[in-house]
Amino acid sequence: MTPSHIVKFLDQHVIGQDEAKRQLAVAVYTHYKKIELAGSARTEIVKSNVLLVGPTGTGKTLLCETLSRVLEVPFVTANATSLAQSEYVNDEIEAILERLIDRAAGDIGRAQRGIVFIDEIDKLKAREGQAGQGRGTSGEGVQHALLKIMEGAPVKIKDARYIDTTQILFICGGAFVGLDDILAKTRSFGFISTSEDDNQQLLDRLNSRVKPTDLFEFGLIPEFAGRLPIVASLKPLSREMLVRVMTEPANSIYGQYRQILRNDGVELVIEPQVFVQIADMAMEYKVGARSLRGIFEELLTPVIYLVPDHPEVQQVRISSLFENPRFIGARPPA
Ligand code: ADP
Repeated sequence: MTPSHIVKFLDQHVIGQDEAKRQLAVAVYTHYKKIELAGSARTEIVKSNVLLVGPTGTGKTLLCETLSRVLEVPFVTANATSLAQSEYVNDEIEAILERLIDRAAGDIGRAQRGIVFIDEIDKLKAREGQAGQGRGTSGEGVQHALLKIMEGAPVKIKDARYIDTTQILFICGGAFVGLDDILAKTRSFGFISTSEDDNQQLLDRLNSRVKPTDLFEFGLIPEFAGRLPIVASLKPLSREMLVRVMTEPANSIYGQYRQILRNDGVELVIEPQVFVQIADMAMEYKVGARSLRGIFEELLTPVIYLVPDHPEVQQVRISSLFENPRFIGARPPA
């Protein structure tokens, strides 16, 4: 599986985010190559974990999950905020690894090549008076606890067994609100063009990279930031992209509902302008693609309610979010 194959597969499920897809594809390709080489040449592998920076609902989790499917490796997600709410963070981390083993159907060897996605890592800021907050573990404490498994150590789990985390790929995610301002400050220290031959685009790319020092400034401890050398940025989804999210992916929500109704012998037709209306509404909620499903399902509720009792209905047509669906058939329901 080459990086371009991986990107092609991601394209079938995730809309947009081209740059992040490429970076992720190269990162996992390199990761699994390193593992292969370490097996044969006995060289020590230096892992490059990945950080995905981007607003909520833009596809961070979906990208990781889709990656794990194309690579056929076990995958689990965890949430940094809930880790920080626990007094026993090491137990929680152990539980993450146990879930990974579950996903590998109990095969520790397979789990050791899995992917762990930890969301909301930006909520682990080390500063801002976290001391004396009472229950839970400080953000910094959680970072230290996570470091241990990210660096690659044998971790003791249930039944006196061990799981070696050396080859597990950790992908962290977060919105990192305010990181842009930090980048804007440090950008002025970047590379500048000194000759006509310099590729300005390349320089711009280098200068817009999120560096470990930026993450440190944001509030991650240096050791932790240093463990995330690959940073990929996800963009907010535009209205057009939200429309595509509903209609295009292999398992799109529109496709799913068309299938459900087809099973009842009914054709579902939603006109294009309706998707634009839904996308507009979703943009107001500011949670990316996350609110699409809810709006969509609400729109379809009266349809799914009526259709099973009315075998005469052949087609359901929706022309606006603000009008009732039309039931077309021999004797349409009142
Ligand atoms: P994040 O992890 O960035 O907060 P998720 O990946 O969990 O967001 O996405 C939330 C929901 O929105 C999922 O159901 C997912 O299918 C959909 N979604 C988000 N971004 C995209 C995208 N770029 N392409 C297709 N679907 C998306």
